[in-house]
Amino acid sequence: MNRRKFIKSGSLFFAAGTLSSFDFPDAPTYEFNDKVEGPVILSTWIHGLEANRAAWNVLAKGGSALDATVAGAMHTESDLTNRSVGIGGRPDRAGHVTLDACVMDGDGRSGSVGFLEGIAHPAAVAKAVMEKTPHAMLVGAGAKQFALDHGFETIKTPIPEVKKDYLAWKKENKDLFKPPKINHENHDTIGLIARDAKGNFGGTCTTSGWAYKMPGRLGDSPIIGAGLFVDNEVGAATATGLGEAIIRVAGSAIVVELMRIGMKPSEACKEVVLRIIRKNKDLTGLQCGFIAMDKEGNVGGFSVYNGFNFALKSSLRDEMVDADFDRKW
Ligand code: ASP
Repeated sequence: MNRRKFIKSGSLFFAAGTLSSFDFPDAPTYEFNDKVEGPVILSTWIHGLEANRAAWNVLAKGGSALDATVAGAMHTESDLTNRSVGIGGRPDRAGHVTLDACVMDGDGRSGSVGFLEGIAHPAAVAKAVMEKTPHAMLVGAGAKQFALDHGFETIKTPIPEVKKDYLAWKKENKDLFKPPKINHENHDTIGLIARDAKGNFGGTCTTSGWAYKMPGRLGDSPIIGAGLFVDNEVGAATATGLGEAIIRVAGSAIVVELMRIGMKPSEACKEVVLRIIRKNKDLTGLQCGFIAMDKEGNVGGFSVYNGFNFALKSSLRDEMVDADFDRKW
């Protein structure tokens, strides 16, 4: 029996953002069919299920893969209950919620924002950076000014529930530049990759990053080649987990390059995860996961530890898939 399980999304069991398929040992299991026909979207984690449906509204009308992934990302960015993406995200050690995002299309065009505070949709701003500037990346005050100049919605962060948690955390954590604890529960980006009806690929990655990170820290999520990589000649990949480890192996770009030389998406994701494992002597709490899809419609994912899953949506399918992994917690 294949270790991966499909959990039908129509199930009563799901409450987005709270549960993973690991919580339901009795859920129906299916052999994983890695190949998907037609338009398809994959997204990291359980919040991907709802995000995929928002993205599908674009794909089903013949919209582009890039626009679909941005629509999906915006859905998650608006979710007040999500503590790792958008408005509900957790702050850095100084109490600032700083958002990171990037987008890429299959022709190699990309845009990215980092350290963006007080703006509702960093994914949409990243797309505007791609379309309206000669640059690939804007960060901090410049990114914010750009967003304001282009009329992007503003938000007040942290939201009250998150601020309350932060103030409690701060009582125990007074040093602004002490390295944050590695804890697999304090990060969970959404990365979305899609193929549209024309066969073009696009992707978006958006996050509030590692909770209680040092001020100024950027992870992999806004970095093209680390958190996301897309190439119509091959396919697409995106990442989640400890961004530092993903940046150091240029994770998503390498997944795509391994698919270019013939690996299936799951094999390519596994190879990069094994590389991360080899290069990090201490794997305590180091969770990283990748998902990928190729031109033929093969899809897959792999993570360091168990517990990583991704959402898959096509015209026939709408479900969570447990990624394969190297080891158990
Ligand atoms: N990769 C993100 C970061 O390092 C966080 C995550 O995916 O959990 O900022």
